[in-house]
Amino acid sequence: MVDVYTSFIENERQKELFEKAVRLAEQAKKHAPQSDRDARFSVEVLKELKKEHYFSLPLPEKLGGEDLSLYEFLLLQERLAVGDGSVALSVGWHLGILMELRDEKLWEEEKFKQISEEISKHQVVMNRAASEPATGSPTRGGKPETNAKKDGDGYVLNGRKTFTSMADALDYFIVTASIEAEDQVGWFLIHKDTPGLTVDHTWDTLGMRGTASDDLILNNVHVNADNLVELAGKKKSQPKGWLLHIPACYLGIAIAARNDAIAFAKDFQPNSLDHPISEVPHIQQKIGEMEMKLMHARTFMYAVAEKWDRAPERRNELEAELAVVKTVATNAANEVVDLAMRIAGGRGLSKTYPFEKYCRDVRAGLHNPPMDDAVLGMLAKRATK
Ligand SMILES: Cc1cc2nc3c(=O)[nH]c(=O)nc-3n(C[C@H](O)[C@H](O)[C@H](O)COP(=O)(O)OP(=O)(O)OC[C@H]3O[C@@H](n4cnc5c(N)ncnc54)[C@H](O)[C@@H]3O)c2cc1C
Repeated sequence: MVDVYTSFIENERQKELFEKAVRLAEQAKKHAPQSDRDARFSVEVLKELKKEHYFSLPLPEKLGGEDLSLYEFLLLQERLAVGDGSVALSVGWHLGILMELRDEKLWEEEKFKQISEEISKHQVVMNRAASEPATGSPTRGGKPETNAKKDGDGYVLNGRKTFTSMADALDYFIVTASIEAEDQVGWFLIHKDTPGLTVDHTWDTLGMRGTASDDLILNNVHVNADNLVELAGKKKSQPKGWLLHIPACYLGIAIAARNDAIAFAKDFQPNSLDHPISEVPHIQQKIGEMEMKLMHARTFMYAVAEKWDRAPERRNELEAELAVVKTVATNAANEVVDLAMRIAGGRGLSKTYPFEKYCRDVRAGLHNPPMDDAVLGMLAKRATK
């Protein structure tokens, strides 16, 4: 079978990083059935990720990391998602946020150093909790209903966050809240053991069940003033290269479906044929279509990542390309999984085969940001301006 991986590996460092992802993908795959069944992030996989120092990879070398580039990040995340998309998406938030903080210097230097030290020493994990029932996707611009009231020198927070990936496994939540009296939206870094913070296990979804994207409840959570780490709109917003971990994740799921469908087609020989179905013309067409869609989407994604890494001073020009990569890749991934399902036939619906899980998981990509309608609207506005 053609090796779908090596064509994007360009040097020894990438090869080494990639091997780490291969090892972790194996672990993720092993624990995926249970994690999917229980809608829980696997404790065993979390341990393996920490053992491989996965969570500190984006940190600058002087702070204990590998200063991961965007291209390298995508190589790792895509390969991890071949093992289990849920693991890749969940940890992709942590790594991506760290890259964003590193590159955009969104936090005070001392605060970033402090969290970096904890991450490099103890592999602590964090994620942003930004979605809410009333605002839906934060990319739509809705104001958080979670509120932060001034309380002496600090703040007291109340609210409910939805879709908080790996909520049970996180050490820190970065929570958006409207700051009363100041008419501002802030990001608060809150440790998991802070009184008043609980996880409500609401996550019972069709796909990406292993992300355990549960609700986070804040009930009179008292924090210090220096827990307010960012103010929305304080710095000019820049395109978010790190969000490409989303298309990388769903392409990884599609690659897994493609691999399994080809293996199935080469192996399955019904007694109506004197050769496996891989030689049947309509199956060949479907395999060809899968290859073409993956090659197209992946070449585009890695090319944009290369541009991002090569010219940091021109990143502001990449907003549209980054958004289009996400739309092209997640839709291509859905189409590839659909083709894999057609190749597997009725067996593809059975839980004894991996295809139904790919089908459930890949669908979630449509509901990660930026959403298709927003991307198309943005392109149309640019074109007609
Ligand atoms: C697997 C998974 C993991 C996730 N992990 C996280 C996480 O860790 N942290 C986090 O904060 N979030 C997370 N999210 C949440 C994600 O970012 C979105 O907030 C969530 O999926 C809801 O998006 P939505 O478009 O369905 O919701 P909504 O914004 O509620 O949209 C619902 C419908 O209304 C339409 N709509 C809503 N507002 C507008 C508008 N202004 N203009 C036009 N149409 C509109 C949408 O197109 C859609 O059809 C995760 C989501 C998934 C699926």
